[in-house]
Amino acid sequence: MFIELKNVNKIYPNGFHAVHNFNLEIEKGEFVVFVGPSGCGKSTTLRMIAGLENISSGEFLINGIRANEKSPREREVAMVFQSYALYPQMTVFDNIAFGLTLQGVDEDVIEERVKKTAKILGLTDYLDRLPRALSGGQRQRVAIGRALIRKVGIFLMDEPLSNLDAKQRVTMRSEIAQIHQETGATTIYVTHDQTEAMTLADRIVVMKAGYVMQVGSPYDLYFNPENVFVAGFIGEPPMNFIRGTVRGGAIPFGDNSLDLSLKMGSRVGEYEGKEIILGFRPEHVSLLPVEKGYRIGCRVELTEMLGDNTNIYITAGDSQAILKVDSHDTPETDIDFTFHVPLESVYLFDAETESRIHLD
Ligand code: ATP
Repeated sequence: MFIELKNVNKIYPNGFHAVHNFNLEIEKGEFVVFVGPSGCGKSTTLRMIAGLENISSGEFLINGIRANEKSPREREVAMVFQSYALYPQMTVFDNIAFGLTLQGVDEDVIEERVKKTAKILGLTDYLDRLPRALSGGQRQRVAIGRALIRKVGIFLMDEPLSNLDAKQRVTMRSEIAQIHQETGATTIYVTHDQTEAMTLADRIVVMKAGYVMQVGSPYDLYFNPENVFVAGFIGEPPMNFIRGTVRGGAIPFGDNSLDLSLKMGSRVGEYEGKEIILGFRPEHVSLLPVEKGYRIGCRVELTEMLGDNTNIYITAGDSQAILKVDSHDTPETDIDFTFHVPLESVYLFDAETESRIHLD
């Protein structure tokens, strides 16, 4: 295994426990994304990998060798930060070349590597320009170039797109994916944006309050979330959750009674009198009856036409949910409405532990 983190903890000098028992193995060439809300410990973990923050306990290994005590240089990592400072008086060429120039690398070699890096990044025509004559996205590419040229084993990025506008972010996102494809560099990327995580990652690590909530491919996290947090974090709009106490094998949703035995069979008995959370994704509902599933009556409060899809905000009694349908099916507002949730799109969670209830 290329990189391993074993029971890694970070306790800051003020006593704050920022990262709890972090375990992860990363293969060579993988693109791993750490995602989670602000303060969940993603940057702290990345900085421990970079060697910019010491590891309080646990082990960090590169190629099977303990690297806890190694300096950033010895770890052969390159990092791109959120705020990338380019040297304003230096050309793009000199900015990209800077690290190599400092190391006293031969000029011919520098020239060759800068040109190669610029080609990967689409900066060939801008090498003579000063940073102020570049767009935000181009500047960010120069910052990536500066890290990329160092030919390191591990490439670390901390919210590299957060200073760009929405459109530039989408463009740079696909460029970063392309750069990864071309270089094959092992990459660890931190973001709070689930779309960035989903589109870039081979594997995603979802974090919350210093804990790893789940590790998996984008597909796994979307279709097989292990807990309420991951189910609600991945997907846009987020998964709907109906929380209710099981009575007579069912939970209420407004005037509807959702018979859980349809999904759980006889195991529903274990939950009688207990609270359960039933989840379904806005985009998985059907407006036509389904063979196996729930028929749900509700009221349409508001619709949001997004182009190909429409978000429908509904209420059922005191509860709310969002449905995402083909915009040709957009209903009127303030009407009674019926939709269907296929059983295979229903997720059940234990309300006490917030863990997924596995039924196989
Ligand atoms: P963001 O997206 O806001 O950068 P993050 O997930 O990267 O968040 P971290 O920067 O890793 O979060 O911080 C994790 C927690 O550790 C936060 O609660 C933060 O306040 C705390 N923290 C960070 N640096 C220190 C420090 N030097 N001393 C004490 N606590 C710290």
